[in-house]
Amino acid sequence: GPTADEILAKRKEYLSPSILHLYKNPVNIVEGKRQYLFDENGRRYVDAFGGIATVCCGHCHPDVVEAIVNQTTKLQHSTVLYLNHAIADFAQALASKLPGNLKVVFFTNSGSEANELAMLIARLYTGCHDIISLRNAYHGNAAGTMGATAQSIWKFNVVQSGIHHALNPDPYRGIFGSDGEKYAGDVQDIINFGTSGHVAAFMSEAIQGVGGIVELAPGYLPAVYNTIKKAGGLFIADEVQVGFGRTGSYFWGFEAHNVVPDIVTMAKGIGNGIPLGAVVTTPEIAEVLTHRNYFNTFGGNPVSTAAGLAVLKVIEKEHLQQNAFVVGSYLKERLTALKEKYDLIGDVRGRGLMLGVELVTDRELKIPAKTETLHVMDQMKELGVLIGKGGYYGNVFRITPPLCFTKEDADFVADAMDLTLSRM
Ligand code: PMP
Repeated sequence: GPTADEILAKRKEYLSPSILHLYKNPVNIVEGKRQYLFDENGRRYVDAFGGIATVCCGHCHPDVVEAIVNQTTKLQHSTVLYLNHAIADFAQALASKLPGNLKVVFFTNSGSEANELAMLIARLYTGCHDIISLRNAYHGNAAGTMGATAQSIWKFNVVQSGIHHALNPDPYRGIFGSDGEKYAGDVQDIINFGTSGHVAAFMSEAIQGVGGIVELAPGYLPAVYNTIKKAGGLFIADEVQVGFGRTGSYFWGFEAHNVVPDIVTMAKGIGNGIPLGAVVTTPEIAEVLTHRNYFNTFGGNPVSTAAGLAVLKVIEKEHLQQNAFVVGSYLKERLTALKEKYDLIGDVRGRGLMLGVELVTDRELKIPAKTETLHVMDQMKELGVLIGKGGYYGNVFRITPPLCFTKEDADFVADAMDLTLSRM
C-alpha cells in the first residue's frame, strides 16, 4: 500500500483543511484487532483512544463482523418505509437497557444528528426555544448542536439565538471547586436573566469527553434537574461518549448522578465504529413527532442496527462493563501513582475506561503544559501507545480504549507514560 507520506500529500490536496491529524509524523493505520492497531509495517499499537471512545467491543470483533456480514449480504438498505426485523429488534434491546419509561427510539447516523433531534423534540414538546448547555461541552457539528457545543477552539460565528452556556462544574478548574450546587445556581441565573422563565431543555454529558474528561461536580446534576423542571424544561443526557458501559460502574453515565433524563442521546460506542446514533425518550414526549413526518434516509439502516444488536450482546457476554470498572480502576491507580512521581501531572480523573490526565507546568497556578502534552503524546506513540487529548487548553490526555482492555494493556500505557516523563 501507499506510505504515510503519500497519503499525507493526498490528504493535503484533496481533504478539507479543517481535518487534523495527530502526531508530527502521523500513523498510517491499516488494521485493527480488538484493542490493538497495526500500521503499514505491521507495527502494533495499544489503542488507548478507541477511535475517540467509539470502538467499545474492540476493533473488528468477530461477533460484530459476523452480524454485519450476515446482514450486508442479505439486505443493505430499504429505509424505514418498509418493515425489517433488525431495526425493531435493536430498538427493543436498546429500550430494555434504559430506566423508567424511556422506550421510544429514533435512529440516526451520528451523535450530532441525535442531539439535533433531541433539541428539536424538546423545543416542540415545551413550546420554548431556549436551551442551556455547559461551557466546554461537545454536542455536535450540525446547526443546533454547533451552538450547544462550547469548545475553546470552536471558532464558528454562527448565529444561535436561545442557546446559553452555563458555568462548567469542573472540580479541578471551576470557580466553585467541587460544590455542585453552587454551579447549579448559574443555571437559575441564566433562566432568570436570559429567558422568559421557561426553557426547552438543559443538555449535558455526565463526563465531558472532548472537553477533557471533566466529571461534573457532585450534586450538580440533581440540583440542575430540579431547576430545569421548575422552568418547564427537559433534561437531555448526551451519552455519546459515556454510555455503553464505558464508565464501568454503570451502563449509562447519568446513572452515577441519580437523575433520570427525559431524553437520552447516543452514538459512538453503540455501533463499535459503524455509523449509528439514537435518541430515546418517553412515549409521552415522543408523541410530539406524530404527523410531523420527521425522516432520516439512513437512520436505522439494517446493517448498522445489526451491528448495534451484536454490540449489546458482546458487552453482556464478555462482561465489558465490569471489565471497564476493574481495568479502569487499576489504570487510574497507576496514573495516580505517576502523579505522585511527576509534578507535571496536575490531575488524574475519570471513571472506568474514560480517564483523563491533565498536564501543568505549575501545580499551584495550574498553568497548562500544552507543548509538553504534545511531546509526551509523540513519545508514547514511539513506544507503541496511541492516546487522545482534549480539554480547554489541549493539555489533557484522554484515555478511552476499547472496553476489552486488559491489565497488561493498562500497564503498557502507564509504563510508556512513566518512561516518557522520566526522560523529560
Ligand atoms: N456528543 C458528544 C459527547 C461527543 O463526544 C460527540 C463527538 N465527539 C458528539 C456528540 C457528536 O457526535 P458525532 O461526531 O458522531 O456527530
